[in-house]
Amino acid sequence: MRYIRKGPAPACLDVYRRTPGADWLSVTGADKAELRRQLNEEQAGLCAYCTRRVTDGIDATGKPHAKIEHWDARSSGADPFHWPNLLLVCRGDLDRGQTCDAAPGDAVLTVHPARDEDLDDRVRYLGDGTIEIDAVRGGRRVRNGHQRDVDTLNLNWHTLRRNRRAVADAVVAAAQGADPTRLRSLLDAWSGAPMPEYAGVARYLLRRALSKRVARGKRRRVAADG
Ligand SMILES: [Zn+2]
Repeated sequence: MRYIRKGPAPACLDVYRRTPGADWLSVTGADKAELRRQLNEEQAGLCAYCTRRVTDGIDATGKPHAKIEHWDARSSGADPFHWPNLLLVCRGDLDRGQTCDAAPGDAVLTVHPARDEDLDDRVRYLGDGTIEIDAVRGGRRVRNGHQRDVDTLNLNWHTLRRNRRAVADAVVAAAQGADPTRLRSLLDAWSGAPMPEYAGVARYLLRRALSKRVARGKRRRVAADG
């Protein structure tokens, strides 16, 4: 999971909102395709939850490749046309694992990828590819405080962990002995659009490596000055 910066709402949403009797099922055809296109662009081509590749296209069976998710469920009575509430998510069929849209849990999520601006600083990846998301409660950080969200979305399904670990191994190898300039260019490569799958793992490791290298450089300079 990573922070998603939402852009302006597509104009059609307001038209639906002002149309008497219109509900989410009224949104079809070109309007729905345009919503998918804009969501996909905002999310740099990654599922809002597991960060696998998604597209705004249609697959061979005629189904959309990814689904539009209402973070606040439509059954909650929330405005179905509220743009910040809409996310593009994968269908969640992955080696018989049920993640994201297909995840069986019905718990209400508390972490919001398009609202929690500090999300990227609260996501942590362990050596085996496990994801943890810290919560902030009462102004204090709670390690792995969003475990329930991770479980609900099945984000530590073994295939996802294995895929994240493969990215981590590749990044660690590439960052071995790299100077800060090289680390920054690696970070840029993992930040473009479309963003590589599981880019959050790579960005997490590269940011950590960069801050360590910079701190080490400062210590060396202080020692030299002293
Ligand atoms: Zn997903």
